[in-house]
Amino acid sequence: MTSATTTERLIAPHGGTLVDRTGEAPADLDSLEVVALTSRELSDLDMIASGALSPLEGFMGREDYERVVDEMHLMNGLPWALPVCLAVDSAPVGDRVALTDEAGTRVAVLEVEETYEYDMEREATNCFRTTDEAHPGVARLFAQKPLYLAGRVTVFRRPEPTIPGLAMDPAETRRIFAERGWKRVVGFQTRNPIHRAHEYLTKVALETVDGLLVHPLVGDTKSDDVPVDVRVDCYRTLLDDYYPADRVLLSAFPAAMRYAGPREAVWHAICRKNFGCSHFIVGRDHAGVGDYYGTYDAQLIFDEFAPHELDIEPMFFEHTFWCNVCGSMASTKSCPHGPEDRVFLSGTKVREMLEAGEVPPVEFTRPEVAKVLIDAYSS
Ligand SMILES: [Zn+2]
Repeated sequence: MTSATTTERLIAPHGGTLVDRTGEAPADLDSLEVVALTSRELSDLDMIASGALSPLEGFMGREDYERVVDEMHLMNGLPWALPVCLAVDSAPVGDRVALTDEAGTRVAVLEVEETYEYDMEREATNCFRTTDEAHPGVARLFAQKPLYLAGRVTVFRRPEPTIPGLAMDPAETRRIFAERGWKRVVGFQTRNPIHRAHEYLTKVALETVDGLLVHPLVGDTKSDDVPVDVRVDCYRTLLDDYYPADRVLLSAFPAAMRYAGPREAVWHAICRKNFGCSHFIVGRDHAGVGDYYGTYDAQLIFDEFAPHELDIEPMFFEHTFWCNVCGSMASTKSCPHGPEDRVFLSGTKVREMLEAGEVPPVEFTRPEVAKVLIDAYSS
C-alpha cells in the first residue's frame, strides 16, 4: 500500500494527465536546422517539458492559438488564457528543428506541424487589453518575429535553475504534498517581497486548507522589480520565523512575467493546478502593470468560465492593512474604520525608507524582512 504518498487525493492536472516532454537528444541533432529561442520562449519550453503547462505538449498551432486569443479555450474545450507560441522569421525546410538557448546550445527538438501568420495587434488587444507599446508585454509582442512555428517538443537539456534549491517540477511538488498528507493546497503567486499584507492573506487562506505553496515567479520580470535572489532571502527569512514549516512549501515558479493582468491571473491559476494546487490566491491587480487594468479585472475574469470549469478554486482578496483601532491586520471587508486609522505606505515611500536604511513600521513589514532589503539596497 502506498496510500500515505499517493497523489490521487490531489487535484488532477489540467486535462487529466501531467505531461512529460523530457527525453533523449536524437542522433541526427547536429544536422537539424536551428531556431534560437528568446528568454520568454525558453521559460515556456521548460514549463512544457515539466508538465507545468499541461496539457500542452509543444508550441501552439493556429487553431489552438486563434481560439485562445478569441475565447480563452483550446480546441479540445479546455480553458486556456494566453498564447504559448514560438516566433520565427520563416518556415523551416525540414520536418524537425533543433531549438537553442540564447547561448546557441541545442536544448530541444520540435516536430514541425505548421508555420502560420498571426496578428500582433489583435493578440495585444485581446490578451493585454491594450496596444500601447509602453506596456512591457505589448512591447515584447511587437518586437517578435512575424510567424509562429508550432509543434510538439522534446527537451533533452533543461536550463540551470535560477535558484537551485527551489526548483521543483509539478511531479515533485505533487509528491511532497502527498507525503505531507495534503489534499487542499493554496498557491500564492508573487514577484515582490512579502510584507505584512500578503503574509496576512496567505495565512487567512491557509486557515481553510491543508497547505500553502509560496510560489514566487523567478523568470523574467521588469528591471525595476526587486532582484530574485533578494526576494528569495526575504521569503526564507519570513517563512522560517513566522510560518509553521510543516504547512508551507517554498518553491520557484519558472515562468516569465507577461504583465497580461486578468488573463495572466487565469493562466497562473491553471499552471498552479498542474503543480497540485486546489486553490489559488488572486489579489487586486494580479499580474498587472501601470494602470492598464481595472482594480478587480483579474478577479472578475474568472466569472467568464462556467462553475468548476477551471477546477482550481480562485480565492479573491482585497488589499489588506494594519488597523490601529482593530489592533490587527484587516481589509475594508472586515474593518469599519477609516483611512486615518490604517498603516499605509506607498511602494515608493517604502523603497525610499529602505534605501535610506530606515526600518518601516512593524505593522507594515517584519523587521527581519526589512533588514534583508536594507542590506540589499545598501550593497
Ligand atoms: Zn479597523
